[in-house]
Amino acid sequence: MRYISTRGGSNERRFCEILLEGLAPDGGLYMPAFYPRIDEGTLQKWRGLSYPDLAFQILSLYIDDIPPGDLRRIVEKTYTVEIFGSPEIVPLKPLGEGLSLQKLSNGPTLAFKDMAMQLLGNLFEYELQRRRETLNILGATSGDTGSAAEYAMRGKKAIRVFMLSPHGRMSAFQQAQMYSLQDPNIHNIAIEGVFDDCQDIVKAVSADLEFKHRYRVGTVNSINWARLLAQVVYYFAGYLQATGSNHERVSFAVPSGNFGNICAGHVARMMGLPIGKLILATNENDVLDEFFRTGDYRVRKNHETFETSSPSMDISKASNLERFIFDLSGRNATRTRQLFSAELGRHGRFSVTPEEYARIAEFGFVSGKSTHAERVATIQNASRHYSVTIDPHTADGLKVASERLTPGVHTIVLETALPVKFADMIREATGCDAVCPPSLAGLEQLPRRYVVLPSSVDAVKALLIDRCNAFV
Ligand SMILES: *Cc1c(COP(=O)(O)O)cnc(C)c1O
Repeated sequence: MRYISTRGGSNERRFCEILLEGLAPDGGLYMPAFYPRIDEGTLQKWRGLSYPDLAFQILSLYIDDIPPGDLRRIVEKTYTVEIFGSPEIVPLKPLGEGLSLQKLSNGPTLAFKDMAMQLLGNLFEYELQRRRETLNILGATSGDTGSAAEYAMRGKKAIRVFMLSPHGRMSAFQQAQMYSLQDPNIHNIAIEGVFDDCQDIVKAVSADLEFKHRYRVGTVNSINWARLLAQVVYYFAGYLQATGSNHERVSFAVPSGNFGNICAGHVARMMGLPIGKLILATNENDVLDEFFRTGDYRVRKNHETFETSSPSMDISKASNLERFIFDLSGRNATRTRQLFSAELGRHGRFSVTPEEYARIAEFGFVSGKSTHAERVATIQNASRHYSVTIDPHTADGLKVASERLTPGVHTIVLETALPVKFADMIREATGCDAVCPPSLAGLEQLPRRYVVLPSSVDAVKALLIDRCNAFV
């Protein structure tokens, strides 16, 4: 498999080359040169495979520069009962007739981001050892991404993580999760500012190419193709669990922010998985719902981004949408570059043509949004009618799914986090405390290890240099 940029500029790359890279040099996102098609016979053979075996089959279609034996070992080490809590790894929980919840949040940090990040950690470790290189991962988090990255990279020899978070602004549980890590390769930096300040510092450091090169600074953000690829696997696993034969179609409802999770569903559908609809759900930050309803993509300013009770979806622009636009335009890199580089750069918005808009339906996408009041009502309904407590993000997905059910088509709602991560919201909705998995009881009492820095690029650079020198 070769990888190309959505903006057409760079040479073709192989998987391990793009693994450690962020954006393509021309500013585009990497895409596989084609989507391998899964025929009915193959899908039939995949029924009954364990999750690691299924993951190995799918990853092998996209990774041909890691020997199969090594790739198999990496996958088997990643998707275990010990790490993900059940032999199915992503079990379905039936809610009602034709409706299920797919549990993606039983990894170490209780959000679906573990599904990809745990694999990424093992792939990074493997590739860095092979190259005899080290990497300093610099990231910014408002909660889920930072902890998923830290739990995936902790204890890994060739990797250090420097994670910036807004001082005192994450949920109590999220702070405890990150700051209680004592591994010497994990560096938590609480910035005296908001999430956008953290993000701006990461961008400024990454833009200093001399510094970036000298201190081997890399990222793990959601545009990384390996993260997307890992997520493709659970769409297949969900489909195979929900159906008895390959003639059935299944729809997926996906709480969306950066368009990473649902983009993996798009890839699975392009590979031939019989997906009916891809139902995209947003919260009050409805950039994506607006796009799928109108064909207008209008990036919001930071000050126009609402703080909501499903905070991991509070985004003002959806980084992975460029991948879908590339496919929507018939894989036309010139058109993609025009929209994302020229129009978005100049006007902060673009509109697809009526012909392009008409094609969106062919890709199965529909969308909807949910508000705080609807989130609360959905959490209450789920606990009353289905006896499950769902987190506020999953509630956005279930709310929109309920409006989009197709008779005769099974709909799977992706559970993107466990409720205990958002305790205040669960208490507001149900009057009860969310259950904490026994392995994490007492987390909030553990000693914490983090430093507080002012919102300053130089301060962060100085700390990075200091910690790097301490280890040579
Ligand atoms: C990251 C996240 C999302 C959004 O996923 P995208 O891939 O960015 O669309 C939704 N819910 C939770 C709990 C998350 O952590």
